[in-house]
Order: sequence, then C-alpha cells, then structure tokens
Amino acid sequence: MKNSFMVLAILISFYFSMNNHTFANEDIHQEVGTIEPSTFINNQELTNLKDVSNENVRQLQQPVDLNELQRRYPDIVFLEDPNNTQNQIALTFDDGPDQRFTNDILDILREYNVPATFFLLGSRAVAYPEIVTRIQNEGHIIGNHTYFHPNLVEEGDLATLEREVSRTEDALYELINYRTSLFRPPYGFLFNELVEKVAELQYDVIAWSVDSLDWQEEPPEIIANRVINEVNAGSIILMHDGADWDGNRTNTIEALRQIIPTLQEQGYNFVTVPELLNIPYQK
Ligand SMILES: [Zn+2]
Repeated sequence: MKNSFMVLAILISFYFSMNNHTFANEDIHQEVGTIEPSTFINNQELTNLKDVSNENVRQLQQPVDLNELQRRYPDIVFLEDPNNTQNQIALTFDDGPDQRFTNDILDILREYNVPATFFLLGSRAVAYPEIVTRIQNEGHIIGNHTYFHPNLVEEGDLATLEREVSRTEDALYELINYRTSLFRPPYGFLFNELVEKVAELQYDVIAWSVDSLDWQEEPPEIIANRVINEVNAGSIILMHDGADWDGNRTNTIEALRQIIPTLQEQGYNFVTVPELLNIPYQK
C-alpha cells in the first residue's frame, strides 16, 4: 500500500513537471483562499493507476486543468479562438452584476464602442435587474456563472451543478428573454462528469486564455500590462465586474482605460465571445 502511494506521488509530480502551462485559476479569493496549482490532479492519471479504486478517485476529486478539459472536450470547452485571422479578441467580466462597479465598466465600454460578454451570478441578477437590462440593451452578451458561485468540484455532485445552472438560467430568462447557452464555472473548477452535465444542459463552457488576475487588486497599470502583453488574436480575456462585499474593482475599471485604447491602437477588434468563437449564445 505504501508503495502504491509512492507511485501515485511520483506520477503526479511527473505529470506537473511535464505540464508547465499556466493553470487557469479564476478569482480564487477570500471565499476559498488561494489554491496552489499543485493541488490540481489530473483525473485521468488517477484513473489509470491500477491500485486506486473508484471510491478513492471520488474522494480525491480535484479540478481538472481547463487546458486538459479543452483537449478532452474540444467541442464543449473553449479557451480562445486558436485560428483567428481577424485580430479579434473578447473581453469577459464575471461575478456581476455589481451595483458598485458594473455601471462604470459599461460606461467605458460604451465610450470606446466595445462589446463584451458578462457571466452573471443568478443571485445578483435578481438583486440588480436594472443593471442586467442595461448590459443587454447596450449590446453585450450575457452568460451563466451559477447562482451562488459555489465550488462545483468541492460540492462534487451533479445535482448541485444542475440546480445552480438552471436556477440562474430561469432568473436570467425573466430579464433578457432568451436562454443563454454560455457557461463559465466559478473558479474555472470542473472535472469530466461536470463538463458532460453542462453539455447535457445545452451549454458551452467558456474559459479564457488571458487571466488579468484583477481580483488580486494590483495597481491598474500592472493589470493592464499583464493583459496587453499576453493578448494574441483570438484571446478571451478574464476580468471581473463583481466582487465580494470587501472586494474592490476600481483598479479593474482604471485598467480598462489603458487596455482598450492600447489594444485598439495595436489593431485588435473587440467582439463578443459567441462572435469570436462563431457559436450560438442562446438555445
Ligand atoms: Zn466567478
């Protein structure tokens, strides 16, 4: 038994040494504390280990890296448009609507005539319906980011996912009159069965290729430079218009004033996620 644990540890560390790409840690903030990339375990690697029973795999369930999920489910999970030839990029905003910050972001987007994609929390959409209406009226696209922002992997059951997604879908439908088909998981945390459930609910999973890390609330120029330096044609950029009660998105707002004109001057065209990926945004 001891030997099998050692084999497991060696295989896991081998896996991480072979996969030195950026882990897509979305807004991992106060709610759950910072989660180190090393806590990610590739489910397939675990399943391949003969001595690990299914029961143990269940107990060890961890988020699967989104790059890996994209390879496993190329028609469901999207990180970017890898073949974009039109210099298109997409701004995305999570965790809103937020009465403290979302309107300022909408003002900037309007000023620069930039459409974006907002992944809303159902609970906040119900609390601030007028902001949801404004997002829609100003030409932006709305996606589903669950109702209460749970860690779906920690919850681990498909019923939680279905409840969170469906409740949000129904709440948004009341406000925007369409059923969104775009889903972004809180923290970017999913594993195989959850992806398959999302697909069954007729959603695409929209991840990202450029993480602004704006939830860390660094100075605006640091957030802006990170995005500007990492963008390529086809990039999906992760930012946040919403925050916890003690969070602040003022630096995100200021960073946008640098990001948008700089990238426009470099010849990039901002589009919505469904336009970038040429996928539908409603069912
Ligand atoms: Zn989020």
